[in-house]
This record gives sequence, C-alpha cells and structure tokens, in this order.
Amino acid sequence: MNPVLSNRINNLPISATLAMAALARTLKEQGKDIISLSLGEPDFNTPDFIKEAAKKAIDDNYNSYSPVNGYLDLRQAICKKFKRDNNLNYTPDQIVVSTGAKQSLANVVLAIVNPGDEVLLPAPYWVSYDAMVNLAEGISVEIPSSIETDFKITPAQLEAAITPKTKLIFFNSPNNPSGSVYSKEEYRALADVLAKHPNIYIISDEIYEHIMYDGKAFSFAAFDDMYDRTITINGLSKAFAMTGWRLGYIGAPAFIAKACNKMQGQSTSGTNCIAQRAAIVALEAPVSRISYMVDEFKNRRSLVHKLLSEIKGFNLNLPAGAFYFFPDISYYFGKTIKGKQIENASDFSMLLLEEAYIATVSGESFGAPDCLRISYAASEDNLKEAVSRLKVLLDGI
Ligand code: PMP
Ligand code: GLU
Repeated sequence: MNPVLSNRINNLPISATLAMAALARTLKEQGKDIISLSLGEPDFNTPDFIKEAAKKAIDDNYNSYSPVNGYLDLRQAICKKFKRDNNLNYTPDQIVVSTGAKQSLANVVLAIVNPGDEVLLPAPYWVSYDAMVNLAEGISVEIPSSIETDFKITPAQLEAAITPKTKLIFFNSPNNPSGSVYSKEEYRALADVLAKHPNIYIISDEIYEHIMYDGKAFSFAAFDDMYDRTITINGLSKAFAMTGWRLGYIGAPAFIAKACNKMQGQSTSGTNCIAQRAAIVALEAPVSRISYMVDEFKNRRSLVHKLLSEIKGFNLNLPAGAFYFFPDISYYFGKTIKGKQIENASDFSMLLLEEAYIATVSGESFGAPDCLRISYAASEDNLKEAVSRLKVLLDGI
C-alpha cells in the first residue's frame, strides 16, 4: 500500500495475464528458453489485405481526431457485420468503437454500475471483469462452475445468485479461459430466468465468436426479449490477429451507447484513425478470409488435447471455442515437486515457469482456483516441446 496512491489504485490487482506475459518476456530477455503459453494472443500476422488498408489510410492522410464513437462508415460496417454474423439489427447510433474490447467493457461497466450494485460473474471469467467492477465500486458476485458441468452455470444457480441489488451479468461465449460455448438452448434457459428480472442488464462478450470448432456461436441479444438490455461486445484482436491495433466495439441500446460515448470523450477520445480505416476492410471481408487461422487452431487443439490427456493429474475437457485449455490440476495440491510445496494453482504455475520454463496463467484470478490456463496460440513445435517438458517434470508424481 502506497499512501500517496488512491485507494482505487492500491486495491486494483495487476492483470494476471499481462503480469505473466511480462514475467515470461523478462526471463526470455535474460536468455532463458521460455515457452510462452500465457497470453491469449493469436501468433499469426495480421492478414495482408488489412495491412494494405492501413497503409492506404496513412497515405490518404487520415491523421486527425475521429468522431469519439468512431467513423460513421466504420459504424455502418459494424452494423452490417452484426446483421450478417449475428442476426442483430443495430443502427450506427447504437455502436461505439473503442481502443480494444477492454475499453469497450470498461466503458460499459463505468457507465451503468453504481457503488454497491451487484454484478454477476459466471466463473471462470476473464480476469479484467472483476477488476472493472471493483473500479466502479460495484460488488462482484461469482457463480461457480467446474469441469464437471463443462464450466457452465445452470439456471437454478443464476436464480439463486440474483438479489434486488443485481444490476448486471457478464456472459462470455466462447469463454476465456475455459473455451466453453453456451448453446442457444442453454442460453435460452438462462434468459428465461433473466426475463423474470427486467432490471438486470447483460454484457455478452463475443470476442471469440469466430474461433469456434463446431457450429456457430449464438449472440445473447438475438433473443428478442433480451435485445433491449444486452450490450454486445466484440473486437478485432482475436479473429483478425490484431491485438496490438487496439480496436473493439459495442452494439447496445442507444442510451448506453450515448453514455459510453460521453465516458470515452472524457478519457481517450476516438480510437486510432488508421486502425479504424483498416477495421472497415477487415469487417467487410467474408469470414472465409480468416478461416485458415481457425483451421490451424483446430489442428492444435486436437494435438494438445491428445498430448495433455497423457499427463497424469490433468483433468481436461475438449473446448468448443477460443484457444485455451483449462485443466483442473488439483491432483497436484499438497504434493512436493522439485522441493517446492504445491498448495494451489499459482504455486503450480510458478513451478512450471521456474522448473520447465513454461509460462501459463493460474486459474485463481479467473475465479477457478483448481485450474490452469494454457494458451495454444503458439507454434506446433513449441506446444510439443512444452508438453514434453511437462512430462519430464511431472514424471512419477
Ligand atoms: N474479452 C475477452 C474475453 C478477452 O479474452 C479479451 C482479451 N483479449 C478482451 C475482451 C479484450 O480484448 P481487446 O482489448 O484486445 O480487444
Ligand atoms: N485477453 C488476453 C488474455 O486473456 C490478453 C491479455 C489481456 O488483455 O488480459 O490473455
């Protein structure tokens, strides 16, 4: 605790995903042969047709402030994308473009959560949701799940978690960190509970929508009775391998979009203009232009599933989407490995880093303390090498 700093920042945890990525980077710089399976970041280059659009935007002198909520033609392209991929009808005044889906999410939380409001987080959940709720002085209420239910919550659990103070719930399918995907029927059963509580708003984070291995992801706002209170979040980072370009967006009820626009106008203004021009070209392209990346992720998913299944104490599901495995590794708790006492997933993740030079992320900050997140957005060679190191380290334990 530093007394000069605000309570807000003193109480804010460091992003566990970014912290592990930074640690892995530092160790690499020190010459350690680190295999980084920590960060959720496609290892592909941004497709050439998108890079060309960005170069053209620079040459066309896109260099001024853009409208705070994004160029109109980009917001129109986003509306077309929502119609094409998600069967959602939005108009440009319902869209706000931001500096990554992370900012989109933070805008929404700050725009609608008051101090003391309860926010439901089906666990496991992405690390930053809880931090954003804390920044808004809301109260996170976790709804636990486990590998036995494929990391999905039930309608009864949802009903039990709702109180008169509940303001918001986060859904994220395909999910980071579990890779699980809610079917339309499963979502409908949850929507039936929410239909009885009309004051609760829903964030549907769909950033992994295209990284799906069987079938299509379903958008929560596509239920007519949920549309008016659902904020759909998406972005270019994952589907288009554009994490560093920083472009995310929302489709939302117009009054929420207006509030996010106001928030952003006092913090960062419009998103980088070059990224916005490139985003138009990316979103207007048929989804088939990026399917080669999904095909590759699918091959790696099969490979890693086969390899990890051979390791004792890794209790796995086969994720339907995203690019993470999230094994339950509680088998190792209470054991001593290489002289280190393993009490929890953070100890285990540290053991892998220090003794096998493999960077992963502990499930603790995802609200799933028995699990470990392994990103397979890495080359096949690195994935094979990582698993063989794991085998050596854990042999006979
Ligand atoms: N939501 C989820 C579930 C994520 O995993 C991430 C991390 N990429 C984000 C939102 C934020 O993505 P970005 O800010 O890169 O658009
Ligand atoms: N969302 C990615 C992850 O979960 C990137 C890191 C971050 O923004 O937290 O690893």
